[in-house]
Amino acid sequence: MPWILPLIAALTGAVCASFLSVVSFRLFSGEQFTRGVSHCDHCQRKLTWREKIPILSYIVIRGRCTSCHKRIPIAYFLSELGLGLAFGIAAARWQQISGFPAAPVSAHDTGLLIFWLFNIAVLGLITIYDIDHMLILDAIVFPAVAVGLAAIAWLQGFQLQPVLLCLLSAGFDAMFIGAIVALTRGQGMGEGDIKLAFLIGLITGWPHGVTALFLSFIIGALFGSLLVLLRRKGMKEAIPFGPFLSLGAVIALLWGEPLLNWYLNAFIII
Ligand SMILES: [Zn+2]
Repeated sequence: MPWILPLIAALTGAVCASFLSVVSFRLFSGEQFTRGVSHCDHCQRKLTWREKIPILSYIVIRGRCTSCHKRIPIAYFLSELGLGLAFGIAAARWQQISGFPAAPVSAHDTGLLIFWLFNIAVLGLITIYDIDHMLILDAIVFPAVAVGLAAIAWLQGFQLQPVLLCLLSAGFDAMFIGAIVALTRGQGMGEGDIKLAFLIGLITGWPHGVTALFLSFIIGALFGSLLVLLRRKGMKEAIPFGPFLSLGAVIALLWGEPLLNWYLNAFIII
């Protein structure tokens, strides 16, 4: 049954998103109690288990608290849906590559799936935090770089050259975004985006780090135009760029190889 693993992964992703919303809140406020996910933000009432089922609860209670009837931010629902979809799609894509469940799976392949899901969760947390606070925290990016580097070293069998290529990719992405930040004098993108770009270049590797940046600019431009068209934002209003970088990174992480082949076939070799 090829859909079981993607389904389990999708549910894990949705649960993970509710957890990350709590982490994001704690990182911002430094407070130890949980809020947002297990309490209503308005009346502080503790949520029942029926109201804590990811994705479904929001639909059942129609986005309103059952006691005070105040609106529950749709961001909770969207983050659960988004991370659930991303985990599910990642598991489906991994099955395509690894041949699971028909073929036996190696430790390397299992490691790759964990590597993908871990990094998607990190990028999810960065996205949630960046949307809320327009900031990308060192406290998230630095540990993620350390874990990413160790994981890549293991996945590459502790060979020096492929690990160096990932670092080259990281350096390239960071310098590219750094150049934009310098040219635009920090309007729009900031220091946090440079560090995020380093992480993205590292985990996607060379040359997929370039693909990740390319995709994020396309997605960002499309989304920005859409907002202006819908008159939701003015031309000069700032939109955090971290979510676009993260989305581009996830696509490049999962489909870097086929995207590169498609690009080479379509534009270079005629
Ligand atoms: Zn309430």
